[in-house]
Amino acid sequence: FTLRTTEAQFPFPYQPYDIQEQFMQALYSALDQGKVGIFESPTGTGKSLSLICGALSWLSDHEEKRRQEAAALLQEGEAALSTFTPQPSASSSSAEPDWITDFVQKKAERDLVSKLKEEELKRKKRDERLEMIRNNVQLKYAMKRKSSEDDEAFKLLQLSKEEQPETRGDQEDEELIVAEYESDDESKTRNDDLVEEHVTKIYYCSRTHSQLAQFVHEVQKSPFSKDISVVTLGSRQNLCVNEEVRRLGSIQRINDRCMEMQKNKHEKQHDEEGVKRKRGPAKTVCPFNKASALQKMRDDLLGTVQDIEQLVKLGRETHSCPYYATRLAIPPAQLVVLPYQMLLHEATRRAAGVQLKGQVVIIDEAHNLSDTLSCIHSAELTGAQLCRTHSQLSQYADRYKSRLKAKNLMYIKQILFVIEGLVRVLGGKVGQNPQSQTTQTGTEMLTINNFLFKAQIDNINLFKVLPICLGGFVEKYAGSGVSLHVQSGSNKENRRTEGLNRYLQTLQSNQVSPADQQGSVEAEKVLSASPMMQVEGFFMALTNSNTDGRVVVHRQGTLSESSVKFLLLNPAVHFAQVLKECRAVIIAGGTMQPVSDFKQELLFSAGVGEERITEFSCGHVIPPENILPLVLCSGPSGQELDFTFQNRDSPRMMDETGRILSNICNVVPGGVVCFFPSYEYSRRIISHWEASGALTRLANKKKIFQEPKKANQVEQVLSEFSRCIQVDSSLTGALLFSVVGGKMSEGINFSDDLGRCVVMVGMPYPNIKSPELQEKMSYLDKHLPHGGGRSPGQALIENLCMKAVNQSIGRAIRHRGDYSSMVLCDRRYARPATLSKLPTWIKDRTSTHASFGPAFAAMRKDQSGDSFSVLSASPFFI
Ligand code: SF4
Repeated sequence: FTLRTTEAQFPFPYQPYDIQEQFMQALYSALDQGKVGIFESPTGTGKSLSLICGALSWLSDHEEKRRQEAAALLQEGEAALSTFTPQPSASSSSAEPDWITDFVQKKAERDLVSKLKEEELKRKKRDERLEMIRNNVQLKYAMKRKSSEDDEAFKLLQLSKEEQPETRGDQEDEELIVAEYESDDESKTRNDDLVEEHVTKIYYCSRTHSQLAQFVHEVQKSPFSKDISVVTLGSRQNLCVNEEVRRLGSIQRINDRCMEMQKNKHEKQHDEEGVKRKRGPAKTVCPFNKASALQKMRDDLLGTVQDIEQLVKLGRETHSCPYYATRLAIPPAQLVVLPYQMLLHEATRRAAGVQLKGQVVIIDEAHNLSDTLSCIHSAELTGAQLCRTHSQLSQYADRYKSRLKAKNLMYIKQILFVIEGLVRVLGGKVGQNPQSQTTQTGTEMLTINNFLFKAQIDNINLFKVLPICLGGFVEKYAGSGVSLHVQSGSNKENRRTEGLNRYLQTLQSNQVSPADQQGSVEAEKVLSASPMMQVEGFFMALTNSNTDGRVVVHRQGTLSESSVKFLLLNPAVHFAQVLKECRAVIIAGGTMQPVSDFKQELLFSAGVGEERITEFSCGHVIPPENILPLVLCSGPSGQELDFTFQNRDSPRMMDETGRILSNICNVVPGGVVCFFPSYEYSRRIISHWEASGALTRLANKKKIFQEPKKANQVEQVLSEFSRCIQVDSSLTGALLFSVVGGKMSEGINFSDDLGRCVVMVGMPYPNIKSPELQEKMSYLDKHLPHGGGRSPGQALIENLCMKAVNQSIGRAIRHRGDYSSMVLCDRRYARPATLSKLPTWIKDRTSTHASFGPAFAAMRKDQSGDSFSVLSASPFFI
């Protein structure tokens, strides 16, 4: 046995590219040395597969190494015991007689040996068990396949009117397998240690469910698929198989209903155990949540790699709940696939049963990790939500004041007092309709202390009132479930506030105010969330980080729309724990540039030293000539391209942009995707083109599509765009207007003919006037070192802009054979500092053009050249 080193071959489904091999080697040593690794590999380079094969190779070697070390220690220990000869006491002056010293020595040796033996036994049992599960699953599939083949054969044989003797042997086999698999004895003799023991594992998280599903499919295709135990975690909304509950739609309603049924189940169990309860109508429990079925499903899902859809299918087939079964599977799983929220938010992590100590974490698609962390830990409360919660809570207090314990009543009153304070800060009063209360418009940024002072709640200990609300918050993003079964402490906490939460829920479903009945979006938002939940989230945020947080008070004209928002300025505080607990953390993405700023903001600030950080960056698998990135400094009529705030609205700039697009559409076949810096600007420029006739001219060349306003229409627009390109390939294809950071800039690929040219109009700087951004900038300026002739705040703005650009233009190249032009329209892209923020594989090929002619000639040549292998229409300038 040898560890994989630079010479190593990694199991891979095909001959890996050099960059994949390098990626896996770098990953392997980062994990082995317990590093924090920043891994950059452009999308389309097989990053997921490299992550899987590199990390799982390490895991299997690590396990083997541990096994060998334990065996060697055991051998040593046993040998020492068998040849044990008492050592003469070093000092004759020792107070202990020699026989005592011998006894102590020997006992320590014996304890070590028996501990090692015990661990070895546990490991063996676990391995055997997993092996058996896998064999059973494989045999079951084989039997299933066989029986369907047999059916087919039987029908064929019937057709030919021949008789075939039954294959008794096969049937016996099947009965045996099922019997063995479903044996009750087995579950009785099951070692419960296996349930709780967390084996060394890799937690893989990504941004969206579809990215997680893609990753799982890659694991299925990998050489490890047969030997690895994988579990995919999701929310109840994704995993619930109880149709009545699923139908409730919103995540919160599903969570509430499921939790209610769990409580009913506990009560029922109490009844059965002889605990007397008040009589009342029988309470519903979920039929899918039965311990034996859950355990069986847990075994099944550990035996084969499954994505969420397959888990739901399995749950329906076996009549057991995938949500709870997956949580039971976390401890024995070797690879846990989960969404960001479940890993990065401590309360959610704890509730889901995710333990990071000594484990490996891989965070994929991490280019916006800092923003994501801030977002996950921010919380916002509108005036409408505050008033509603206040009204519900007061009703509860009034109704039950005689029955509530004095202490609890006091806490409830304190919460009411805090809510009154928050409403006061917004310029309103509780007890009146928030929609009819007007407030002065404006935004105020306050430190936590100033905010508490202003709201006159600085004398309330929020830590003390928080537990009264608990029981709802952690359920916000997927719920506790298993932890309720295993952690009696938190269960007690939940029971304590159960009555309150339930009462508030009743109020919520029964009382819909006339304002809500108007069906406004806001009302829907308020209704779909549990009472107190937003308040809890806000309190929790306030108590979590003091100096690194701010409260933004937005007054919007009416109290109902005004809001208080907790803003986390230093996401490193929450990331620090992940970095501290884990053995190794890998932060991977298509574009991680600029790495220095990333390290500064998220790693150094979290207390990680330079020596623990390792970096890996690789180019693209495509041949360099497959991309043509151009910076255009002026348009066809010589107009300088300057999309700064002052110039971008000038008719000359808009007309010139129309001309550039028109020329591009002339020579580029298939799809052209044009990104604008904001929705507002896209609306203005398109209406200008409408009025000037430029839009009609463009429509004569390509069918025009626009990014839809609603997210649920994206799919439809994309499929029409793609259909139009396929059908129309002989003609001119289609042009899609999109917005940077919009619904189509992430998670959607413009591969092959869908995106033969990506045009970026202007630079998508974030709104620098936003008070939140300004606060963040000044926070960074104050806390991070200045360097490179710019302040950390300015660097943040530049980085946000270029990250968004990279995300958008990177959509066009998705695999080795893909090719595309990338046209950056704005002279500011030519600045060296800006160019340096493009990914290396794009930057190295980028050419800057002061005038349009040569740039256009290059594009025309490339679009008709060998790599692009298509003939362009005849080019002309307009
Ligand atoms: S136990 Fe599972 S199946 Fe039943 S309601 Fe809850 S999530 Fe749905």
